[in-house]
Amino acid sequence: MTGRILVVDDVATNRIVMKVKLASACYAVDQADCGAAALIAARQTQPDLILLDVVMPDMSGLDVCRQLKTDPDTADIPIILITAVADRDNKMAGLEAGADDFLTKPVDEVTLLARVRSLLRARDTARELRKRGASALGFAEAAAHFTAPQKPGRIALIAPGPKGAVLWKTALDDRLGGKVSVLPRDAALTGFGNDEGDAPDVFVIAADLTHRNEGLRLLSDLRSRPGTRNAASVMILPEGDSERAAIALDLGAHDILYDSFDAQELALRIRTQLDRKRQSDRLRASVEAGLEMAVTDSLTGLHNRRYAMFQLDRMIAQTGRGVAVMLLDIDHFKRINDSFGHPVGDRVLSLVARRLRAQLRGSDLIARIGGEEFLVALPDSDGAVALDCAERLRAAIGETEFILRGDTPPLSVTISVGLALSKPGGGDSAQSLIDQADTALYGAKSHGRDKVTLAPRSAA
Ligand code: GH3
Ligand code: MG
Ligand code: MG
Repeated sequence: MTGRILVVDDVATNRIVMKVKLASACYAVDQADCGAAALIAARQTQPDLILLDVVMPDMSGLDVCRQLKTDPDTADIPIILITAVADRDNKMAGLEAGADDFLTKPVDEVTLLARVRSLLRARDTARELRKRGASALGFAEAAAHFTAPQKPGRIALIAPGPKGAVLWKTALDDRLGGKVSVLPRDAALTGFGNDEGDAPDVFVIAADLTHRNEGLRLLSDLRSRPGTRNAASVMILPEGDSERAAIALDLGAHDILYDSFDAQELALRIRTQLDRKRQSDRLRASVEAGLEMAVTDSLTGLHNRRYAMFQLDRMIAQTGRGVAVMLLDIDHFKRINDSFGHPVGDRVLSLVARRLRAQLRGSDLIARIGGEEFLVALPDSDGAVALDCAERLRAAIGETEFILRGDTPPLSVTISVGLALSKPGGGDSAQSLIDQADTALYGAKSHGRDKVTLAPRSAA
């Protein structure tokens, strides 16, 4: 993993020691020798992580941390505070200010590097999501403006025994706004299936449950299951077990804490994880919305041409009994626009789409592939079924007038349909079926419209 790390310390020797440790793990290291220089460097170089000394002559590391976290340009950069004496007030103030961790000098190298890897991994994931969101939409702004509804955080505690669990819960209940519940190990594994909506946002897990390392194994398991893989996790380890703390971080724990933890500290760390989780949930939702937009026709809500072509190819490759492809075109649509205006035309298009959709099964494909032209594909359908369906679609449009808002009179709209069937042995491409359906559609138009016509090859 590559990463650019900013080391902030007023003592040159400390910076050099840190730089050697980080450079041996192949990170690029920048340095700043005071708080003011750190603020400038963070804004200019946008490091992936900041290691920040607490006691500095010009300003405290806590103040630097606060300023970075309130500036939108630097708020997302993870920060590890580093101090000679871990005094409780400072530690809480640091976590409160949004620092991700607090390490004491001399810094244990194994713990430090595991923590660095864990924070960089989280940052990489967020970046990757942002990139995908932007490319799925084609423009980043829409992704940034998409907001998922905010739910209160849900925290699940998985402790070795009921007594420990109750202690944790009592400590957290009045410190956290979210919902804290105690969960048996098995329920964590089996309770959430594929549905992320039900899963907790943060798991707090003891490293050792009934058996040694059982909590660590549970963590790997949760990270591999669809329902829980995006949840954050805080691992609780026996006092001073820094070796397994490093392992926990590498297994994907987002944070670690030792047994004798201070409830306030656990609450603050959970809050940081909840914030991070919310942010990545938002990003993921915007990526999904972007993907959805990329395959959807915004006027009718149907799929668009790009998606239809892709999906039709798949349907032809997968289906056993053959595929029926229809092209449907609204008759004399130009007249509607000319007589009542383009907005009325738009409204008719979306009402036509709705009526067509209502006639189809979930497994059928329907898309708007041109101005007033639709494609419908039916998997596993023979000629009789397909003709029946095409007639039904034609009737659904032509037999009932369209009632629109305002002073537009009820409109009589009809469609023409060209139908093509894939050959029983297969071998038809999506494009060739569409071409045949298009020829048939042309036939329907020239024979008076409001008709279904079967392509010559399909009729044979
Ligand atoms: P035909 O029966 O031969 O299909 O006649 P038509 O008038 O339906 O066909 P033509 O291709 O001549 O005209 C299609 C019209 O559809 C022209 C175009 O302005 C209109 N159109 C295409 N896309 C949209 C749209 O998104 N909204 C609206 N309101 N009109 C559209
Ligand atoms: Mg038309
Ligand atoms: Mg047309």
